[in-house]
Amino acid sequence: MWFLIATCDIPDRPVAAPDGFLGVDLGIANIATTSGGVHHSGKTLNAVRHRHRELRRRLQAKQTTSAKRLLKRRRRAEARFAANTNHIIAKQIVTEAARTGQGIALEDLQGIRDRVRLRKPQRVTLHSWSFHQLGRFIAYKAARQGVAVVYVDPAYTSQACSSCGHVDKRNRPDQATFSCTSCGFAEHADVNAARNIASRGVAGWAVSHAADDAA
Ligand SMILES: [Zn+2]
Repeated sequence: MWFLIATCDIPDRPVAAPDGFLGVDLGIANIATTSGGVHHSGKTLNAVRHRHRELRRRLQAKQTTSAKRLLKRRRRAEARFAANTNHIIAKQIVTEAARTGQGIALEDLQGIRDRVRLRKPQRVTLHSWSFHQLGRFIAYKAARQGVAVVYVDPAYTSQACSSCGHVDKRNRPDQATFSCTSCGFAEHADVNAARNIASRGVAGWAVSHAADDAA
């Protein structure tokens, strides 16, 4: 039997000075939404996860060896499907940024557990794991394309108005809607959050490159 192990080293391109930033908001219904208004739906992935959860419940009740084997296989299949989805989304986001000459602003995921406050703890773990993976995929695909990546503090990005900066819980009447109680700006909630992430990206880049400009 033959094995061919091929590794492929593609040198990263030098990072180009970005013309603005593409903000990426992470979520459950939409896995990722960009400040350019592109939604990357989590519908298929959520459906697969739901189906697997049901199957898992039935198999776990059985406790037989074959049930355990099947469980393991399902878990791997689900992880593969999630990774594949993340690869596709990462590629589309990096392509969108490269095409428009923008850098990419990602949420610093340290605080993700606080943001994705769901009732089921294992769900949080699952999504947090998946968000980290998506972030990693975006970062390495961006590096290959010479697209700048910055990480920003995601606090209040969903409650703050991306037009006037007004922060208010009531700006968010429901999951999908953002409607500013101060200036009246209205946008899809995820797009508004992505726009906030984008402007924090611009600010973050300016701070970290102030020394370059002075030189
Ligand atoms: Zn406003």
